[in-house]
Amino acid sequence: MKFAVVGSGTMGHGIAEVLAIYGHQVKLIDISWDILNRAKQRMEESIRKFYEKGTVKEDPSVILSRIEMSTSYDVAKDIDFAIEAVPEILDLKRKVFQSLDEIAPKEAILATNTSSIPISEIAEFTSRKDKVIGMHFFNPPQIMKLVEVIPSKYTSEDTANKTVELARSLGKVPVKLRIEVPGFIGNRIFLRLMQEACREVESGEASIEEVDSCARNKIGLPMGIFELSDYVGLDIDVDLWENIVKRGTSDVPCKLFKEKVARKELGVKSGKGFYEYPGNKYLKVKLPATSKVDPARLLSLAVNEAAWLVENNIVKPSEVDDVMKYGYNFPKGLLEIADELGIDNILRNLEDIYNKGYSAYKPQDLLVKMVKEGKVGKKSGEGFYKYA
Ligand code: NAD
Repeated sequence: MKFAVVGSGTMGHGIAEVLAIYGHQVKLIDISWDILNRAKQRMEESIRKFYEKGTVKEDPSVILSRIEMSTSYDVAKDIDFAIEAVPEILDLKRKVFQSLDEIAPKEAILATNTSSIPISEIAEFTSRKDKVIGMHFFNPPQIMKLVEVIPSKYTSEDTANKTVELARSLGKVPVKLRIEVPGFIGNRIFLRLMQEACREVESGEASIEEVDSCARNKIGLPMGIFELSDYVGLDIDVDLWENIVKRGTSDVPCKLFKEKVARKELGVKSGKGFYEYPGNKYLKVKLPATSKVDPARLLSLAVNEAAWLVENNIVKPSEVDDVMKYGYNFPKGLLEIADELGIDNILRNLEDIYNKGYSAYKPQDLLVKMVKEGKVGKKSGEGFYKYA
C-alpha cells in the first residue's frame, strides 16, 4: 500500500519507519528539509538498531529507500492511506486535512494521530467524512504495540475495519472504540490515575513517594503515577487533564500538577517535576520499599472509569486491559488487577471518597451491580472475568 505520513516529528518519523519496515511505500511530508533530514537520521539510527538486534531482517538501506521525503503535499496524489502527525493545534490539523482531501485520491483513508481533538471535528474539514478516522499510536510507535482506533460519528464501518486490519498487519494490537469519547481509552484512565494520586497527596492521606511505592511495589507497575507523569511531561498531563474535563468528564479538584507547570517544573524534560532528573535524563526514581497506600484505593477511580467505558459499550473489559498493557506497559490489565484486589474493595473506596465530597467518585452502576450479585473478582470466581 502507498502511504503519506504528515509531520516527521516524535510520532511521524516512527510511524513512517514502521510502515516502511512492513514493506509499504511512504511519502513523509514536513515543512522544511532541515526537519526531514533530522527525521531521516532518526529513522536510520533506529532501523539500524533493530537490524543489529535481529528484529528486522531486511537491509536497512532497502527499508529506507521506501520512504520518500517531501515538503509538498503533491506527493500524496496516489496514496491509499494518510496518517497525520502534526502538532496538536486544531487550525493546523484543519489545513493539513483540507490539503490531503484536495490532493489524495477520493477513496483514500485519512487518519489522524491526535491525542485529544475530537475526530468528528477534524472530519468536518473534509469532503470525505466517512473516510476520516483516529489512529492513535503510542510513543515510541516503533516499539509500543497499542493503536487506539477511533471512529467518529461519520466514520464508515469499512474505514474502521480497514484501519484495524492495517494496525494488525503492522504487528500492533488495535483497540477499536465503538464511538469516540474524549481522551479515548488510555488517556481517560491515565487521567483518573493522576487525579486519585493527586487527591491522596493533596488531602494529606499519603506522600508522593508512598503513592508511587504502592504503584510500583504493591501493584507491580513499571513506574509510579507521579514518576510516569514526570516522564510524559507535566505540561502534556495538564493539557490532557483540562482537555478531557472541558469536554464533559467530571473533575477532581487538585492543584498539585498545575502548580508544577506554573513553576515550569515539567518533569524529565526540564530536569525537575515531582522528582529530580539531573541532565534532563530519566532515571528510575528511588522509592521506599513499603507504603501504607491501599492499591484498591489508588486504582479505584481508574477502575470506575473503565466500568463507565464497559457500561457504555465503548470497549470490552479485555480491551481496556489491552490498552493498559500495550500502551502503558502494565504487567497485567487494569481490570485483571481489579478482580484480584476485589471489586468490593474498589467499591468501598469509591463510596468513601465520594462521601468526602468528591463527586467524580460516584460508583458506576456496573460496579454496584457486580458487588450486589457477588461478582467481586477472583475470590468469588467471577468479576470482570470468569475464573475456574
Ligand atoms: P512533534 O512536534 O514532535 O512533530 C510534529 C511535526 O509536524 C514537526 O516535525 C513539524 O515540523 C511538523 N509540521 C508542523 N506543521 C506541519 C504542516 N503544516 N505540514 C507538515 N508537517 C508539519 O509532535 P508529536 O509529538 O509527533 O505529535 C504529533 C501528533 O501526535 C499530535 O497530534 C500529538 O497529540 C499526537 N501524539 C503524540 C504523542 C507523543 O507522545 N508525542 C503520542 C501520541 C499521539
